[in-house]
Amino acid sequence: MNSDADTLGPLRVAIIGAGPSGSALAILLARHGGDVTLFDDGRRPDLLVGESLVPAVVPILKTLGIEEETASFSRVKPGVSFVWSPTDRVSVTFNRFAPAVFPYAYNVPRPRFDDALLAKAIASGVRHVATRARLQPTTADESRGELALAPETLAAAPALDGRPPHLIVDATGRGRHAARVLAIPARLGPRKDVAHFAHFEGFRWDDAPGQVLIARGEAGWSWCIPLQERLSIGIVLGQDDAARLGRTPEERLERAIATDPWLSSIVGDGKRVTGVATYANYQMISERGHGRGWVMVGDAFGFIDPMLSPGVFLALRSAELLAAALAPWLGRRAIPSPAELDSALASYVDLQRAMLSAWFELVAYLYDGRLAALIQAGRGWMPKNPGFVKRTMQEHIARHVGLLASGAATTSRYSRGLLRLLSRYGLRGVDPAELAIR
Ligand SMILES: Cc1cc2nc3c(=O)[nH]c(=O)nc-3n(C[C@H](O)[C@H](O)[C@H](O)COP(=O)(O)OP(=O)(O)OC[C@H]3O[C@@H](n4cnc5c(N)ncnc54)[C@H](O)[C@@H]3O)c2cc1C
Repeated sequence: MNSDADTLGPLRVAIIGAGPSGSALAILLARHGGDVTLFDDGRRPDLLVGESLVPAVVPILKTLGIEEETASFSRVKPGVSFVWSPTDRVSVTFNRFAPAVFPYAYNVPRPRFDDALLAKAIASGVRHVATRARLQPTTADESRGELALAPETLAAAPALDGRPPHLIVDATGRGRHAARVLAIPARLGPRKDVAHFAHFEGFRWDDAPGQVLIARGEAGWSWCIPLQERLSIGIVLGQDDAARLGRTPEERLERAIATDPWLSSIVGDGKRVTGVATYANYQMISERGHGRGWVMVGDAFGFIDPMLSPGVFLALRSAELLAAALAPWLGRRAIPSPAELDSALASYVDLQRAMLSAWFELVAYLYDGRLAALIQAGRGWMPKNPGFVKRTMQEHIARHVGLLASGAATTSRYSRGLLRLLSRYGLRGVDPAELAIR
């Protein structure tokens, strides 16, 4: 950023990774005048996690201009049912909380969703470079920043004409490429789970169409996500419990289904039509989210947990927040000074970190049983024909839990405070430990 030519716009941004965070950011920056190069290794396995979206994603899809296309290959998700035990199911529908919460979400086949976002980015003027990009630490000219595109990566984008980008964005997901190159540690979450999942056809559905099911098992929990033709079934459990189920991911998933009466009734005579994918040890937040001339978005910055499905929302929202932080320099002739850029990135990083922490806190209520205990206590407290005051109070509480879990207001101080207060003083003798997810 030293030479005169380098102080003139448009802002040159290199984004590494075309998952939801990278492609969404590319669209938003290009649309407002950024000069964007999006490197992607084209890795799209048949199965990718991130299929169930929260309602707060839908307004972002509208902004990106891909809601209609997403709807064409996805299933509308009206809500979520929590199966605490075979006889205890709590169903939540998003439209109950509208308009504060968007009234629906989608269940998406992820490879197709990612392809749609990438196609939109290209149509928005983003330069797509199909290669596995490599970053390296800078040594010669520190004012250029801490990170640079490796020579072969820069050469793979001839339109850059050998000029380094003003900003490098790490959107490589859990690969955390920038963090690895700069040896940046991550704060790990408390759970060391493994998840196995696959798609099934010919299953028997026992809930509203599109409703996502989360079921507590003897060990861990499972998800059922209805797609257009298929059902995605996943199990999430500790490493030791997983090992007890079998040696291979296939054995483990099959055994988990066979030994769970509810899951086996859903699968019935259905057939697994894909391989079994595995993810492990995913809870982490990077200790640094940016440095001079570079920044992280999406999972590369932090990933919480599959519980409550916040991942794609956090990825898309990080793209929105970063694009907003860079807005003053998009479409302008002048680019930010290193100090200006640093301060814009720092304010984005603070917001994204606050969001990640809020989701960490919320997910803990599910795992340690406090949320289930609160629901049970609430039921006991409500008579068959509740009066106005009790009904209003219950609606108020449910609405704030909805605001938190839908992504509409997960960082809200009031909603979080209310949940903290209730789970401390409102459990009315119900023991959360009995409802915890092991
Ligand atoms: C078990 C499990 C279940 C989950 N379930 C859900 C769910 O139901 N709903 C939900 O919203 N989220 C879920 N998630 C989280 C969700 O998958 C992620 O949060 C989301 O995919 C993050 O998007 P991203 O763009 O940050 O990263 P990614 O989706 O990981 O995209 C990164 C992209 O970068 C590319 N790439 C990587 N390295 C390079 C390189 N060097 N050069 C070029 N390209 C590169 C990759 O090929 C990939 O396309 C789940 C996660 C786990 C672990």
